[in-house]
Amino acid sequence: MSSIDMRSLILFAVSAVLSIVLYSLPAESFAGINPSFVQLVRGALIIFTLYLLFEKLFKMELHTKILLGMALGALAGWLFRESIVEIKPVGTAFIRLIQMIVVPLVLSSLITGTASLGDVNKMKRIGSKTLTYYLLSTAFAITIGLVLANVIQPGTGLNPEVKAELLQNYSGMADQKVSSAQENQVSPVDTFLNMIPKNPFDALGSGSMLQIIFFAIFVGIALTMISREKARPVLAFFEGVDEVMIKIVTIAIELAPYGVFALIADAIGVFGIDILAVLAKYTVTVAFGLVIMLIIYPTIASRFAGVKVSQFLEDIRPAQLIAFSSSSSGATLPVTMEVADEKVGVSNEVSSFVLPLGATVNMDGTALYQGVATVFIAQVYGIPLDISAQLTIVLTATLASIGTAAAPGVGMIMLVMVLQQVGIPLEGIALILAVDRLLDMIRTTVNVTSDVTAATLIAASVGQLKRPEGA
Ligand code: ASP
Repeated sequence: MSSIDMRSLILFAVSAVLSIVLYSLPAESFAGINPSFVQLVRGALIIFTLYLLFEKLFKMELHTKILLGMALGALAGWLFRESIVEIKPVGTAFIRLIQMIVVPLVLSSLITGTASLGDVNKMKRIGSKTLTYYLLSTAFAITIGLVLANVIQPGTGLNPEVKAELLQNYSGMADQKVSSAQENQVSPVDTFLNMIPKNPFDALGSGSMLQIIFFAIFVGIALTMISREKARPVLAFFEGVDEVMIKIVTIAIELAPYGVFALIADAIGVFGIDILAVLAKYTVTVAFGLVIMLIIYPTIASRFAGVKVSQFLEDIRPAQLIAFSSSSSGATLPVTMEVADEKVGVSNEVSSFVLPLGATVNMDGTALYQGVATVFIAQVYGIPLDISAQLTIVLTATLASIGTAAAPGVGMIMLVMVLQQVGIPLEGIALILAVDRLLDMIRTTVNVTSDVTAATLIAASVGQLKRPEGA
């Protein structure tokens, strides 16, 4: 081992031990010291320890570092509980860094994507394929959820004491979710009208994704209808913006191992894993359904797009890992686009149309979870759901998942809409709140995987999938 390695090793050992000691000490040990100072010192130490591990001691691929960051984050959350939660700003900084480019990226990629589809017929072909896939895959996902929930019956046999405790502990949070869902309730006509921005700059400023998508597709279409001479500089500008945004992703993603460490440590630190045992049957049912979906996507991609399952999974792993740790398909979008283009080989033309749309409207994981959650709550309350109620769930959960914003925890707010449709007590969401954060991680991974699969299948179907050599 060279001297540099030896030095790094010693530094690593010292800072790791110091971090463990500082995070393990009870809060009283720091009485009299400014808490922000403690937070800064402990945080800097643990990040420095990770830096030595990831960058100095071993040569690792980025996705190995991200996986290790997650595992260590889970370990730290489990060991240090509340005290590690203060590391969250590192995770938030990482997510904000990627989020920063979502709006300009969606705008520029959809404008160039739509314009490059060239003629209206091609647009119709790709557009209708995209929407068909999104609707079918969502309906399929809820069906899987409903079948599992009816077979496993997660809501029967829940200990009445646990039920009472959950309802009591989480009723405040549940009320908040219900009222924010009710505030946001709009009729289907208004939902449609709201997609048309009165002022696209407002839409960009407030990040209203559906409005941005509407505007960008329109600009893209109009660009193909004006003279080439006028269209060229506009397109060149947005193509440039697109490339710059993707470049920022490649830089930001280098920080992912640290960001995911902090995010996972925070998630486990706040909620713990013990709660999973109490709601084990429900959690396992949702997770099982989501895992089934995660197996189905690569299988379909291999069957219909000819990509090797293992290779496909390896290619999309960075996007899956970021989705898992951020619980936000919106924030993951830049990474999703990068892996689709660079690794899977989807043409920019297809990915820049299919993926921003998918991140916003296609949420198979969320829909599956809404299906299971509805049946679970109904079972706990002893409300029978006949076939027509179950069909209503398929329909409303499809719509609710489309309306779900691509951000953490929103799926649960939209669940209120589904519960309302089938007449299930809304306070029932108090029962599942405790495990929601953890399930949100898996359902977001499913949401993102479904989007990449859509892009892969559609690209293959129009001859625009160029697999890298040997893949
Ligand atoms: N967090 C999910 C996403 O961003 C949405 C949800 O189900 O809450 O895809």
